[in-house]
Amino acid sequence: MSNKDETVLSNEHTPLFANESGPIKEVHAFWLAGMSCDGCSIAAVGAKNPSVEQLIHQQIPGLPKIILHHPVLAVEAGHRFMEPYYKAVRGELGATYVVLYEGSVADEDIAKETGGYFSAMGAQFLTDDDGELLGDGSWRPYPTADMLGELAPGAAAVIAVGTCATWGGVPAAIGNVTNAMGVMDFLGKDYRSALGLPVVNVPGCSPIGDNITETITSVLMFLAGVGPLPEFDELGRPAWMFNETVHRGCPRAGSYEEGVFADEYGQQECLVELGCWGPVVQCNIARRGALGHNGGCMNVGGVCIGCTMPGFPDAFAPFYKAPPGKFISGTTSRMVGSFIRPLRKISQRKSNMSNRWLKTESIPSGWGHVEAPGVVIKAIHYFYKKIQTSGTPFHPSGTKQQQKLQLKSRSAMAAGVKRSEERAMETAKAEELL
Ligand code: SF4
Repeated sequence: MSNKDETVLSNEHTPLFANESGPIKEVHAFWLAGMSCDGCSIAAVGAKNPSVEQLIHQQIPGLPKIILHHPVLAVEAGHRFMEPYYKAVRGELGATYVVLYEGSVADEDIAKETGGYFSAMGAQFLTDDDGELLGDGSWRPYPTADMLGELAPGAAAVIAVGTCATWGGVPAAIGNVTNAMGVMDFLGKDYRSALGLPVVNVPGCSPIGDNITETITSVLMFLAGVGPLPEFDELGRPAWMFNETVHRGCPRAGSYEEGVFADEYGQQECLVELGCWGPVVQCNIARRGALGHNGGCMNVGGVCIGCTMPGFPDAFAPFYKAPPGKFISGTTSRMVGSFIRPLRKISQRKSNMSNRWLKTESIPSGWGHVEAPGVVIKAIHYFYKKIQTSGTPFHPSGTKQQQKLQLKSRSAMAAGVKRSEERAMETAKAEELL
């Protein structure tokens, strides 16, 4: 493993061809769960692009082999499962590793005051700062927060998975009796991994599974020297996933723009009046879908409650009440939409006519009566087309330029025919002479 001076942020690694491994051939991935519901694990195993199976079977060219240690997915149990974690904590693993943390990090000092713990995995002897055994010397549950603190300095990267791990999430909501926090709060501003990375954050409650696996892949590709440094924003989020609002990718954004809103669930229009926060929330769920490009909040009729944002949940509560800003933006959209929509209908009407129907003024549809455009609509269409084609050689009704072109091509064709007739006559004459 490189030392800290050789920071990966300087991108000194030379990318190799994609089908070659970089300097790091094998990476252990230690999954830890803090105050979590395991939803992020569920999301990760549902990922398709890439899938967990592709990652652990090294099916992505150039990606190091990933040895996943996950408390829910592991075949081993007990000490056999925990041994690699302990080895990594003791610095005896002898291999590169990354830490994936799910759930918020509880303040275990609060729990220790009463001899308990909040989130733990495995067991440890309780010792004082000098390593002396405390209490009766028996094994005690090993808080995952403590393990995170011990694993983080030697990790090639620490990736916080889900909103609880990134910003604190639900356990850190107002009240917060466990003093729960995100991984970056826990490790501090100055934290850098052994290869120079601050904490990488993949928020969402739960995140899109593909967001998790794609981030892991791109970070590992970079660490392995076969990919570029992924672009992260100022909060350590993969920028290409979180730099746009969910609203921008929402299939209902067209109805928002035209000022048409749903007033109850089950309707296909924009959901802002039912409490959707999509216009201000940074997330790619509407574009990417929840699983295999299917589902995902607004795609299936649910409002955005801001679950990817650091302010979640309190900044968006009470859920299902329209955001205050909706009054201004919604009213503006309604006003603009009431003007724009009828104009679009007119233009759409023209686009629903073939040239033949426009000429014959009759639409021979067996599905229903379609009104042929009247004089007023025709006049509007005429001027519309004039504006549409102004400054271009195109003219809707066949213009002088088009006629010239047609004449040119007709005379060229006639000349060609004439030439071939002449050649045929010359050939015939030559045959007669023979
Ligand atoms: Fe925007 Fe939400 Fe309406 Fe979609 S449903 S267009 S995200 S406000």
